[in-house]
Amino acid sequence: MLRGLGGRCPACGVGALHDGKGRIARACAACGEELYHHRAGYPALLIAGLLAAHAGGISELALHEVIDFPPRAIAGMLLAALVFAALVRPIKGMMVGLQWAWRLFGFQYAAMCRPHRPVTSRADTVDTPEEPRRAA
Ligand SMILES: [Zn+2]
Repeated sequence: MLRGLGGRCPACGVGALHDGKGRIARACAACGEELYHHRAGYPALLIAGLLAAHAGGISELALHEVIDFPPRAIAGMLLAALVFAALVRPIKGMMVGLQWAWRLFGFQYAAMCRPHRPVTSRADTVDTPEEPRRAA
């Protein structure tokens, strides 16, 4: 989930989770893990919308108590829109990471079909084959 929060592949932590348009990539460019199995679209929007609505409402109430600023509702809606835009991608990434970790939806079939390989957190920690030893 932390890798997804940071926008990284949940399997390797190196490849980008999102493509250039803000959608989840079909597969990781670094390790090839299939990512299109996720079902994080609508739930991430709902969670981000819930959090953004709370942020907007709380800010509107806070503005009402502190200053006499007439367009409080507009300020609250603007803040809610900013919070929503900032939270959608990280929440979607966390949900993809959770679904990957729990092998939900198609991730379980992808895990069964791929050959077993150890999960490394960084690409530079992958072992390189040693040079053959020469007889002395
Ligand atoms: Zn990867």
